[in-house]
Amino acid sequence: MVLTTPLLDRLAQRGPVDVVATPQSAPLLAGHPAVRDVIVYDKRGIARGWRGMLRTARAIRFREADVPRGAQVAYMAQGSLRSATLAAVAGVPSRVGFATSAGRALYTNTVPYQADQHHATRLWSLASTDEEDRRPLAPLHPRLFPSSNDHAAAAALLSSAGVVPGSSLLVLAPGSVWATKRWPHYPALAVALQRDPRTANARIVIVGAAADGAIARDVSEAAQAAGLPLPIDATGRLSLLSSAALLARAGAIVTNDSLPLHLASAMGIPTVALFGPTTLALGFGPLAPHAESLGLDALPCRPCHAHGPATCPLEHWKCMRELPVARVVDAVADVMRVAR
Ligand code: SF4
Repeated sequence: MVLTTPLLDRLAQRGPVDVVATPQSAPLLAGHPAVRDVIVYDKRGIARGWRGMLRTARAIRFREADVPRGAQVAYMAQGSLRSATLAAVAGVPSRVGFATSAGRALYTNTVPYQADQHHATRLWSLASTDEEDRRPLAPLHPRLFPSSNDHAAAAALLSSAGVVPGSSLLVLAPGSVWATKRWPHYPALAVALQRDPRTANARIVIVGAAADGAIARDVSEAAQAAGLPLPIDATGRLSLLSSAALLARAGAIVTNDSLPLHLASAMGIPTVALFGPTTLALGFGPLAPHAESLGLDALPCRPCHAHGPATCPLEHWKCMRELPVARVVDAVADVMRVAR
């Protein structure tokens, strides 16, 4: 959803933009100036099955009633057959998607999937009318708009941990839905960052979902064992946009190839992104102005999966295990120095 926002900005120049989103991703678009409305499609919950799809299709038809039928276009950022079916059942006459997507049989126009481009560019190109128009003239920047309440929630969390305004913050995002994308050395990193004179003055904050709480505890225990200040554990305590608001105050983030990487891109935060079973070439790298992406480029098995497998097919998981802490510390110091 975050990487879709440059497309939304582009489409908003042509007319009203309504977005169909899952309950999990819909909150990300709150307050986004390019978006008129968000229609929630809870395909695994209350809108499960055909009846749920028909209800959602009716909601779409009702919302689009003020748009002349000839001007209604569905841009299929999510390329599933289910999404394409929903748009067709909702009676949207033009349906545009990637030529490689599972739902392509139901599209009225297809756009090439530019495998060599960043995914934000691929999504942005869905609104392109001809071949020359498929590459943006300037780098794309996703955007999110945390509200004043989101900023207040982030500020309250930091203040309750004794952080005063203007303090230097370093955010660690050690989680990922995909186990093999979780770099295992965040505990050692938290210690190394606090001992390195280039980064030692920054307070460490750990962000993530509630499910990342165990990793956050490991990081805290490592700091405690080393006699260093405890990181602030924000896992499970902030909404997505409040997390984005917290990132906006940070000097840098270290993140796996996962959602916080894209939140950081949207907030323009200096980013160190760690890639293991996936690579930058897949098109999901950081888009923040100051960013470094680290991975073991010489490891021949990379990438082994589009998202990251549940377990390493070779069982050694070298792509993450052997990515050294010292390289990450240097990269953090670099992005912070360049961003100053
Ligand atoms: S096969 Fe290689 S790239 Fe894939 S998880 Fe294992 S070490 Fe990483």
